[in-house]
Amino acid sequence: MSILVAGGAGYIGSHVCKMLNQKGFDIVVYDNLSHGYKEFAKWGEFIPGDISDEKLLENIFKYYNIEAVMHFCAYIEVGESVINPQKYYINNVSNTITLLKVMLKNNVNKFIFSSTAAVYGMPERIPIKEDDPKNPINPYGRSKWMVEQILEDYDKSYGLKSIRFRYFNAAGADEDAEIGEAHNPETHLIPLILDAALGIREDIKIFGTNYDTKDGTCIRDFIHVNDLADAHIKGLEYLLDGGETDYFNLGSGEGYSVREVIETVKRVTKKDFKVVETERRPGDPPYLIADSEKARSKLNWSPKYSLEEIIKTALKWHIKLRGKS
Ligand code: UDP
Repeated sequence: MSILVAGGAGYIGSHVCKMLNQKGFDIVVYDNLSHGYKEFAKWGEFIPGDISDEKLLENIFKYYNIEAVMHFCAYIEVGESVINPQKYYINNVSNTITLLKVMLKNNVNKFIFSSTAAVYGMPERIPIKEDDPKNPINPYGRSKWMVEQILEDYDKSYGLKSIRFRYFNAAGADEDAEIGEAHNPETHLIPLILDAALGIREDIKIFGTNYDTKDGTCIRDFIHVNDLADAHIKGLEYLLDGGETDYFNLGSGEGYSVREVIETVKRVTKKDFKVVETERRPGDPPYLIADSEKARSKLNWSPKYSLEEIIKTALKWHIKLRGKS
């Protein structure tokens, strides 16, 4: 029996594959390498392909004895989703439906789905609980929320059991620095600050310093990618044990301001660099902090990495990625 990991050559998918492999699962990694890297698909069998390719997926399900599917393939850039929503709805929604279609045809009914805190939009209260209102404010968040609703319908009608994980700010890297975050273009806060610390960027820009928060900058909940991976293993085991469809926030429950993250990077790297205060980035909620009590109690999950450890692991990987010290 194998686990099909769609998007297993990407940032979060590859960390999950490494952990699945350590736990003794057989894995088939399926990835079109549009944003993933062949070098990241080093655990299990790698098959290059797109989730829109129904024929190839059919063959994989026929050839391998697939027991469950983990699905990480998605476009994730909020700004791009506003400019080109079609790209997001075709890949994140329509192609996911194709993957689900092939699963149903082959009687595979266990599915782990990567969702996002963006389904909540501008949250009405902090920390956010899973049943708080879903008001996504951009096509990216809407594409994820659409799939979440589709999954509820597919359980009711077809008995497809799923776990949806709503990630807060995924960060950090593999402790051995074999894999890590390498988006192109990079838009995420921690890799950009590390670029400034390594002298690859001139400065780090703070997007907005007049929010109603303790120091005027946005507050985010950073969660280590290995803590996310651990939740995925627990979610998979839960479904394999016959668990029902469910959905969970995955965050540390701790909020750090953009300024605090910059200060932590300065402390960890022992480097000073220029910080430039600029305008707000449209669509940024002032606070995003998870209430992850549900994952803690139902999946027996608890995040292990502090912000400092997140930055230390990210730094080790980043130095290797950028080839600088
Ligand atoms: N941010 C920033 N400067 C940057 C990149 C991000 O000030 O160069 C801020 C951004 O406005 C947000 C936080 O850092 O408040 C986290 O942004 P990121 O894009 O990493 O993740 P998001 O919260 O959008 O998922």
